[in-house]
Parts: sequence; structure tokens; C-alpha cells
Amino acid sequence: MPIIKADLELCQGYANCVMEAPKLFDISDDGIVVVLEEEFGEETRGRVEAAVRSCPVSALRIED
Ligand code: SF4
Repeated sequence: MPIIKADLELCQGYANCVMEAPKLFDISDDGIVVVLEEEFGEETRGRVEAAVRSCPVSALRIED
């Protein structure tokens, strides 16, 4: 199964990813992304790709 990887050093907490996929991402109290579910199914890929594209600092990637 593909998984979502987040670079916590890069993340600036813009929360674009949360807006694209609120079931998959959250923001911690420190203002850094939390990946709620690392693994995702193919039916969710479009949403994950949208979240990856939405990140202004390219902190998210998909590992197939
Ligand atoms: S969009 Fe990028 S910078 Fe913003 S919270 Fe998500 S991972 Fe972090």
C-alpha cells in the first residue's frame, strides 16, 4: 500500500493539506502537520495527490 510521508522539518503549518484531506492530516499544537493515516488506498489517491500539490513548501510526498 502507498504511504504518505511528511517532512516535519519543512512543514510550516499552512494547513493546506488539512483543507484538501481533513481525514488524513491534522495540525499539532506546535503547528506542524500530523499524518493521521500513513497508509491509504487507491480510492484516496486523488485526494492525497491534491494535498501533496497544495503544500507550499513541498513537505509531503507519496511513497509507493
Ligand atoms: S500543507 Fe505543507 S506546510 Fe502546510 S501543514 Fe501541510 S505539510 Fe505542513
